[in-house]
Amino acid sequence: MILVQNGYKCDYEMNIFINIFFDKDEEGTVTTDFSHENDVINVKTKIEFNGKIYESDYQCGFSSSEKNPKLIKKIYGCACTKSFLRAAGKIRNIQLPWGVMSGIRPAKSVRQFHEQGKSFDEIKQILGEIYEVTPKKCDLAIKVAKNEAEILKRIKENSVSLYIGIPFCPSRCLYCSFVSTDVRSSGKYMDEFSELLCREIEKTGQILKEIGFFVQNIYIGGGTPTTLSAQNLEMIFKSLKKNIDFENLEEFTLEAGRPDTVTAEKMDIAKKYGVNRISINPQTMNEKTLEVIGRRHSVKMFDEAFKIARNSGFDNINTDLIAGLPGESFEDFKYSLEEVIKYNPEDITIHSMCIKRAAALRFSGIGLTGYDEMNKMLDYAQQRMEEIGKQPYYMYRQKNISGNLENVGYADANHMSSYNINIMEEAQTIVALGGGGSSKIVMGDRIERVVNFKEPYEYIRRFDEILAKKEEIADYFRK
Ligand code: SF4
Repeated sequence: MILVQNGYKCDYEMNIFINIFFDKDEEGTVTTDFSHENDVINVKTKIEFNGKIYESDYQCGFSSSEKNPKLIKKIYGCACTKSFLRAAGKIRNIQLPWGVMSGIRPAKSVRQFHEQGKSFDEIKQILGEIYEVTPKKCDLAIKVAKNEAEILKRIKENSVSLYIGIPFCPSRCLYCSFVSTDVRSSGKYMDEFSELLCREIEKTGQILKEIGFFVQNIYIGGGTPTTLSAQNLEMIFKSLKKNIDFENLEEFTLEAGRPDTVTAEKMDIAKKYGVNRISINPQTMNEKTLEVIGRRHSVKMFDEAFKIARNSGFDNINTDLIAGLPGESFEDFKYSLEEVIKYNPEDITIHSMCIKRAAALRFSGIGLTGYDEMNKMLDYAQQRMEEIGKQPYYMYRQKNISGNLENVGYADANHMSSYNINIMEEAQTIVALGGGGSSKIVMGDRIERVVNFKEPYEYIRRFDEILAKKEEIADYFRK
């Protein structure tokens, strides 16, 4: 679709919603005419599509003398997208429970409003009136914000979290939007990658000592870290133990995302070196779907992996499920959720299908789940989680998520992952190591980013630059 904006431009926000209503290959033109005079915003939208014209004329009151640029940007953007939604709604009936809220961290907005002195009732009103968020999603965002606020209090001065990216997986899932490579082609780099990672850990340890910071959380993700051999994993854990002060370490997560990579040997090693949180992700408990999405593991393998982790002594296990996997109905999702609940994991994360790789999915000939069906799945998950005593504690949305919906982590009060919250709320410096991570240096309101290379080959070939990037991070603190 071609976008033409007169009077005010907000292509980023507009394109989020245009991409929900129209496929990439659909042709047409969206034109908005924006004006703000005498305290009234007026946005006329015209959509030319399939030889027809669809129009809307949206108006709202807003002081013409307002000077706050952030507020002006928000209100103008909302007016344009609301006007578009009204015109596009005449073409396709798509309900968006988050209305025109386009940010990826709705709970962060709630928390910020609250810190500015607004009550939760007032925030609910703002979300409803300005962004057209449904009462159910307002309640969800407020619940998450309240839980986050509690966990954020635990962040200590001069603390950082470490993220270690292991960009290898046994195969590539059809819907994958993460940094990862299929070991059938990249496996030859695993040993060298692991050795260099230990050198990066050593360098990071030296720098943290120099600047006087300690590590509060470690998160080893990817990819699937447990794709590495037990020997490589042990070498990395040993390096962490040697170079990082574990004295104040609170949370140490290892993603063992793919059940087909979990062995008793790897779990025992992880336990021995202090890992206290594991993630084992079935994504669905329907065999047919597992085949379609290229996970290359079975439900039985998830069952075995979960039991292995429990036997190794892990008492904090997260499991991920995805709502809206190709070909899945509400009943399929409900079945998966009920099956996972039987294992009693401490943390259950419900992701919404991300359609970044929709082309690959379409190529597979399997249909994507409709937005309404997906929303029904998420509502059901929220209700069931609350019934079993789990609260929503972190939430984020991705740009290409179906229907602009959300990913939510549910846990009981003692198992809310502080790393997950810190990364969402950008409240603590995260130092990224390995492949694909991005360090976020939090300096008050300012956030600086230092990006690592994604591919294992690139990481190995340009390793000197990786070490230089660690110096770059330290420089922010040396200044
Ligand atoms: S296991 Fe995760 S990171 Fe690996 S290919 Fe599948 S979705 Fe991507």
